[in-house]
Amino acid sequence: MKSNCQLLIIGAGAAGLGAAQKAQQSGIDYLLVEASHRVGGRGLTEELAPGIPWDLGCHWLHSGGINPLAKIADRQGSHYDKHLPSRAFYMQGNRLSEKDSSEYHQFCAATWQKIQLSDSRGEDIALSDIVDHESRWAPYYNYWQSLMTSEDVDNFSALDLIRFNDTDENWPLRDGYGRLLAQQSEGLNIHLNTAVKRIDWGGSGKTGGKQGNRVTVETNRGTVKAANLIITVSTGVLGARDIKFYPELPINKQEAIAALPLGSYNNFAMLYDEAWPFDSDTPERIDYSNGDDINFAFKLKCSGWPYVYCAVAGRQARWLEHQAIDASEELMMSALVDIFGADIKKKIIKFRTSAWGDDPLIKGAFSASKPGHADKRKVLAEPLADCVYFAGEATSEDAFATAHGAWQSGIDAVYASSQ
Ligand SMILES: Cc1cc2nc3c(=O)[nH]c(=O)nc-3n(C[C@H](O)[C@H](O)[C@H](O)COP(=O)(O)OP(=O)(O)OC[C@H]3O[C@@H](n4cnc5c(N)ncnc54)[C@H](O)[C@@H]3O)c2cc1C
Repeated sequence: MKSNCQLLIIGAGAAGLGAAQKAQQSGIDYLLVEASHRVGGRGLTEELAPGIPWDLGCHWLHSGGINPLAKIADRQGSHYDKHLPSRAFYMQGNRLSEKDSSEYHQFCAATWQKIQLSDSRGEDIALSDIVDHESRWAPYYNYWQSLMTSEDVDNFSALDLIRFNDTDENWPLRDGYGRLLAQQSEGLNIHLNTAVKRIDWGGSGKTGGKQGNRVTVETNRGTVKAANLIITVSTGVLGARDIKFYPELPINKQEAIAALPLGSYNNFAMLYDEAWPFDSDTPERIDYSNGDDINFAFKLKCSGWPYVYCAVAGRQARWLEHQAIDASEELMMSALVDIFGADIKKKIIKFRTSAWGDDPLIKGAFSASKPGHADKRKVLAEPLADCVYFAGEATSEDAFATAHGAWQSGIDAVYASSQ
């Protein structure tokens, strides 16, 4: 690894890969260092069975029509699924009528209006202060919002939530989002297994001029000096102080990191033994609620692959991650049995889950702004000393918690650093 470069990028997740591609296209002398043995960060595709991919992290191209990674997928010929799945709502074991289910959508629309009203009053409060908890729809609505933020409704800012630019186009990639991200690393100047330990950014102006080596970064494989630095590690890693800064980060930056912690969110995949073990008229997507604390959005066929996909977030995800995998399996199976009857148990032949909270290089799922702190994303994104730039999903004001938001933030940081 060379010891000098114009631009050093830390972390080869979506943000770091976006930054490195942009730097390479711009002819910038850059280096990308990644602590892990692999690229992709929170984008990771594995095989559930030979030839059947599943994503442990990002899965959907959110806001597909304006998603830069959808355009890249197009150029590469990677397939994604645009069709809207047929849906049904099961409440306490009963399939609801169309009329009853439409009440749920009315509840969502009414709550959205209340959030907008709260925003217009200049409030930045928890979503739980806005939701009508007496409604029978509240438990499922709260579950669904936890999937958006990886936190429970009392633990994130409603204002932050509505700043997300959602075009309501969510397209899963057939061969995996993690795979698409990994493909972006081809031809880039990446050093894997290279963990940053310490950043000395106090050298601003020491060597004079924009091109001087203003930052010194210590890794487990040697020291690199660079004119500019882009940091893309998660707020979980920053908050744990796994990387030491000299001088310490300014207080407002430390506060921003603390206000944007990672929540919990894990994906689940249940492989079945037949092409389609359900009745022929079974919808592809089932919203399930026991009317209380057990709520799931099941996708019964994942981009044509034979497995049920589901996700859990917030406290429930945190709790499940610390139990044996059987606890998750029992919980999800009980809901599937409630819907399809006991026979479904025999048809599920493999059960898998991710465990992002346990990953020492991530430490959670994605950033959720604490109530009262929606403006901290902007603070986190501000550069230091005109040479240290912050990118990654948590720095995006309108596409946080996504791979495309992270990707774009990396590109924007390269642009800012080269001005
Ligand atoms: C379960 C789950 C489901 C999700 N689903 C979706 C989805 O469907 N659609 C979507 O758009 N987004 C989704 N997301 C969010 C999305 O995956 C992330 O927002 C995005 O991948 C974050 O990218 P990043 O580059 O900001 O950070 P990361 O992916 O965390 O990349 C940071 C990199 O820094 C590395 N690193 C850490 N410490 C060091 C160090 N000291 N030195 C060097 N390198 C270091 C890490 O190993 C990592 O590779 C999901 C996330 C999870 C967890």
